[in-house]
Amino acid sequence: MQHFPIFLAVAGRRIVLSGGGDAAMAKLRLLMKTEAHLTVIASEIAPDIRKWAAQGKLQIIERAMEPGDALCAALFYAANEDDAEDARVSAIANAEGALVNIIDNLADSQFITPAIVDRDPVTVAIGTEGAAPVLARAIKADLEERLPPSLGVLARIGKTFRHAVEVLPMGRKRRDFWSAFYFGKGPQAIEEGEDAVIPALETLLDDHIMAEAKEGHVDLVGAGPGDPELLTLKARNALDKADVVIHDRLVTGEILELARREAIIIDAGKTGFGPSMKQEDIDALIVQHAQDGHHVVRLKAGDPTVFGRLDEEIEALEAADISYRIVPGITAASAAVANIGQSLTKRQRNSSVRLITGHDTKGYADHDWRALAQPGEVAAIYMGKKSARFIQGRLLMHGADPHTPLTIIENVSRPDQRIVATTLAEMEPTMTNAGLTGPAITFYGLAPRDAQANALKLKEFA
Ligand code: SAH
Repeated sequence: MQHFPIFLAVAGRRIVLSGGGDAAMAKLRLLMKTEAHLTVIASEIAPDIRKWAAQGKLQIIERAMEPGDALCAALFYAANEDDAEDARVSAIANAEGALVNIIDNLADSQFITPAIVDRDPVTVAIGTEGAAPVLARAIKADLEERLPPSLGVLARIGKTFRHAVEVLPMGRKRRDFWSAFYFGKGPQAIEEGEDAVIPALETLLDDHIMAEAKEGHVDLVGAGPGDPELLTLKARNALDKADVVIHDRLVTGEILELARREAIIIDAGKTGFGPSMKQEDIDALIVQHAQDGHHVVRLKAGDPTVFGRLDEEIEALEAADISYRIVPGITAASAAVANIGQSLTKRQRNSSVRLITGHDTKGYADHDWRALAQPGEVAAIYMGKKSARFIQGRLLMHGADPHTPLTIIENVSRPDQRIVATTLAEMEPTMTNAGLTGPAITFYGLAPRDAQANALKLKEFA
């Protein structure tokens, strides 16, 4: 940025302009909008400028500029449309301490006058450092169209109302109030006349005070593995009430359809390795909607407490003092184990079961491989597609039986569910060859009941 934009206080101060022709007039039209004392110095003065002088809008000195003419001036414009004369007068003004602008001479100017959209007291200044005047004009035209002409009047009336708005808490709530005024109720009211504006402000403020009283709330809800019938009743009821639903990528369309028709549905989907919404952004999104007084359902695949980054969201909610509730769901392991006709635990086989992840934030996740390698151990491996070879290697290295059964279940509980039974020795390349595209969970130490029965039968015949 070579030019720093500021708004200069010029009320009551001197602005001197040298020149009396078209360039001078163009600049004067703009300067006359200010409350500065304007002095025009030129040996030839256009009739319009004389007229303005007669109207008391400016003062004329009808001769070429001399030393002393720019004393105490805040700004000085050289508008003689004559390079030599402009250079001469600029040197005088400069020596007398004024900031100098030479019309159409960016290089020798100390400041530039931006393109202006005037909705006094709202003023938008657009500058391109001389690089793209066309662009500045286009932006100006765009803003002229977008900003209601009444904006200035509204801003002036709004200013008188600022005190009353202090009943709303500072920050977002107040900003929301003002944007509802300037871009909604204000322009509507002013169509009926300026007198309608204050009553409109009062009504709007009442509405916002009421809304302020409505507390937001967040339900952190488990959506189960995909089959809508595996939703809990609590989850369904929460979806019935939700104003906003913020969901993960793994939550199915069928489940989202159960949300209240008016609800805003936001996909905060995090694709495993692709571009994703950062967890902090998701936290902020949830908090923001709750702070707007909404009932938010944060919908997570399976159970929110299993590999769901639930705690980060809870911490954000607690920090923002927002009420929340956790609604459990059926985790992928529960649904998957049911669909292979097995139990997660079984007397005399395994008295504990582990839910492990193939991945954590640092990459492949490490586990107690030695313990897992013991006969009869069962683990449900979440997010284990990419890490399959790593897990296989670790288990074998720690002495696990290569014949340990392994079952991969893709798209659990969905119409396209697929079950692939294999052994630890064959874990890879089986998983890669299976060409898994949906979410998949892998059971280490469990075979589908049917496959197991078949294997037993085969053994009997062997
Ligand atoms: N909170 C979820 C797990 C989130 S981690 C739950 O309780 O199920 C994401 C992993 O869960 C996926 O990589 C996959 O391993 C597993 N998963 C989630 N839904 C699944 C489904 N329908 N079928 C198979 N695996 C699933």
